[in-house]
Amino acid sequence: MRYTILDCYTDEPAGLGVPPYLGIYPRYLAGYLLGQGHKVNYLTIDDLRLIRIYNNIKKEPTEKEKTNIRIYNTTGRDVQDLLDKTNILIVILGVHVPGKYLSAIPGTLREIASLIKDMPCKKILSGPAIYGTQLEGGKFFEKARTDIFDEIKEFRFSYDEIAEYALKGAIIAKQIPQLRIIEIETSRGCSRKRGCSFCTEILKSQLQFRKAKDILAEIKEFYSQGRMYFRLGKQSCFYAYPEAAKLLKSIRTQCKKIKILHIDNVNPANVISDEKKGSPITKAIVKYCTAGNVAAFGAESFDPVVSRENNLNSSAETTYKAVEILNRYGAERGENGLPKFLPGINILFGLKGESKKTHEENIQWLKRMIDNDLLIRRINIRQVSIFEGTRLYEECGNKYLRKNRKYYWKWRNEIRQEIDSPMLKKLVPAGTVLKDAYSEIYDGKTTFMRQIGTYPLIIGVKGRFPLNRFYNLKVTGHMLRSVIGEVVE
Ligand code: SF4
Repeated sequence: MRYTILDCYTDEPAGLGVPPYLGIYPRYLAGYLLGQGHKVNYLTIDDLRLIRIYNNIKKEPTEKEKTNIRIYNTTGRDVQDLLDKTNILIVILGVHVPGKYLSAIPGTLREIASLIKDMPCKKILSGPAIYGTQLEGGKFFEKARTDIFDEIKEFRFSYDEIAEYALKGAIIAKQIPQLRIIEIETSRGCSRKRGCSFCTEILKSQLQFRKAKDILAEIKEFYSQGRMYFRLGKQSCFYAYPEAAKLLKSIRTQCKKIKILHIDNVNPANVISDEKKGSPITKAIVKYCTAGNVAAFGAESFDPVVSRENNLNSSAETTYKAVEILNRYGAERGENGLPKFLPGINILFGLKGESKKTHEENIQWLKRMIDNDLLIRRINIRQVSIFEGTRLYEECGNKYLRKNRKYYWKWRNEIRQEIDSPMLKKLVPAGTVLKDAYSEIYDGKTTFMRQIGTYPLIIGVKGRFPLNRFYNLKVTGHMLRSVIGEVVE
């Protein structure tokens, strides 16, 4: 059989697959299908948009236009020919934690339905979208449509199966001409028995860890293809991994030329437990990962009422203490111009028990961090997306979103003005040189660049520089969450 995997991109609380990230779903699936003797091609939703909406013409943006990121991540293959020969199309799709993407737009179910409905082949939907998907925060999920797909299928593999499929499936990276950060899975599920009220991860999986040797083998497979950017991001808490420090050491000693090795989600409580043992994991992250690394703390709220009502993983005091610990070990500036390892904070609006007091608590705790010279790499603020099966869905749905929505712009703006803005000036003061920023898109006469890695800072550079190249940039000014830079030698 000829299969085509159509990557419409995925974004979940634990795991990112929106370019420049390459997520796990298309890779594991390709490995499974190849193992069964099938032919497998990888295409992106950008490929499909290009032929269906843009007549297969990719126009260079004029000096007044923005780069069209709907067709930025094309594979450059003969898409029509591949689709004509396809027997089974598997659509990988699903956004559970919508973000802002600089150079990609994930597909929605509505969009994909209009793009594939006339295709004669069998169509299967997979990826997180089988639980629903939502590209905008603060809304109910979009449900999978059975009239478009012949089948909705999870393709759930055990870690023993993944040991084989991950290696075989790594080959699809060869069908992707662009730079990619390879998202690597270390575990699934969550160590908390009764999880956070809004979380879909606990609905999907029991807690399980991948074997360190399998993770290492997968990284080495990509590394042998010349892929040099990795994030150990598919997990609910990197610190929970039983051999976290040893794993990092093995990766760096066996793949010496890796350019980026970052992590993602961390439960602040586990940073504190690690500290009680002499901080071996924090120290290993600082030593073996590359600079600009971020531990994303899912604090969600500093309000004790919201924390209790939603069974959040960390109290305000715990998050604060974990922020202090990471600053102690990771705030030193690294080779690329950014601090080596800092906390990031996620805040979620619309949780049960939210009130005006919630915002006051959030601001108060964040201010305390600034006043005590603690650095936070970034604050993500989202409105919660509500998924069926979660306690939030069952207990109150969008009650608090509806009640407090009128305040969100103000709350968010206050955090941006009072916390992000002064924090960014401390983090990268004017004159800081940020090395190896990659030019990605144009917006009028400005080129937007980012360093490769987790939660990279967006840098606007005046002028149109050739895209897909690396530049060293000196910071010359600050916006609320991004910086202005100029190219230096
Ligand atoms: S800590 Fe909360 S949000 Fe994170 S995976 Fe566990 S239950 Fe989900």
